[in-house]
Amino acid sequence: MKCAVFHGPGDLRVEQRPTPQIGRNSDVLLRVEAASLCGTDLHILANPPGHPATPGAILGHEYLGEIVDAGNAVEGLQVGDRVVVDPNITCGRCAYCRRGANNLCLNMTTLGIFLDGGFAEYNVAPVQALYPISKQTPLEQAIFAEPLSCVLNSFGQAGLKMGDNVVILGAGPIGLLFLMLFRSGGAGRLGVAEISANRSRLAAVAGADVVWNPRQGDLAAQVKEWSGLGADIVVDSVGSLFAEALKLVRRGGRVVLFGMNSQAAPAVRQYEITRHEISIVGTYIAGRTFPQTVRTLESGRLPLESIVTHRIGLDGIQGILPALQSGEAVEVIIRPE
Ligand SMILES: [Zn+2]
Ligand SMILES: [Zn+2]
Repeated sequence: MKCAVFHGPGDLRVEQRPTPQIGRNSDVLLRVEAASLCGTDLHILANPPGHPATPGAILGHEYLGEIVDAGNAVEGLQVGDRVVVDPNITCGRCAYCRRGANNLCLNMTTLGIFLDGGFAEYNVAPVQALYPISKQTPLEQAIFAEPLSCVLNSFGQAGLKMGDNVVILGAGPIGLLFLMLFRSGGAGRLGVAEISANRSRLAAVAGADVVWNPRQGDLAAQVKEWSGLGADIVVDSVGSLFAEALKLVRRGGRVVLFGMNSQAAPAVRQYEITRHEISIVGTYIAGRTFPQTVRTLESGRLPLESIVTHRIGLDGIQGILPALQSGEAVEVIIRPE
């Protein structure tokens, strides 16, 4: 089968490998329907990397597929089912898993980052990672299962109240998903800060009331004028904009951190957080949000199709990376066949 393999910093190669086989009797073999690229993939492929990954692993942690083979111990799912994948495999035994905080698992590993993932024609996944999704759900909805599950976890911790003014930093796929959720969740005004003209346009389509270019003018002053006091909630969807977010939030407001960039180490004035009683919330991956994510996708309630910009094959992955970095591409759907 054809697949895209991580070989080290900045080194992703499309190559041929034998079709994988079920190892444990709780595994299934998936024929990958589609996968998508995300900011984490860019961080993995950056040099120096902003996120670790296992050299030799097939990348792709956002994907869905059809079950074509299943081990003896697989229950509840069967050959022919269409499933989305929660790529984060947790142990179920550690202190955090037993507290219900599975996303803080001490023994977590991830399909498509540390284990083989979905940039391939076939993939072996443990049944615990899979959630069935209706075959009627359009691919342009279903492809968002993994990122939407993460954003739903974060959104839940943002503590939105009806009418809150919200500023989202970044209008990549994650920022745009936040935008859609805050909009349908009852936010008052929604502002987005984004440098790319293309992503700014998509933010407006997806429901932003205003889109600022932080390179043109004083963003903090613009947000203050727009909101009166500053934003009730500021979301850093990029993973490196904590210091900027602190300048935009009102006293008593909340900063929600998302995005994974291990290189980011912004200098912040702790005094501002204390003096103004700012709440800072770190949020990480899906928590237990996959079931509600699947229902949201099946409902078709979010205008997700509007942010799909590219459809490519596996051979096109390397070529699309510059467009993702520049913001010209937003959601890229990869069909392995
Ligand atoms: Zn991702
Ligand atoms: Zn655990």
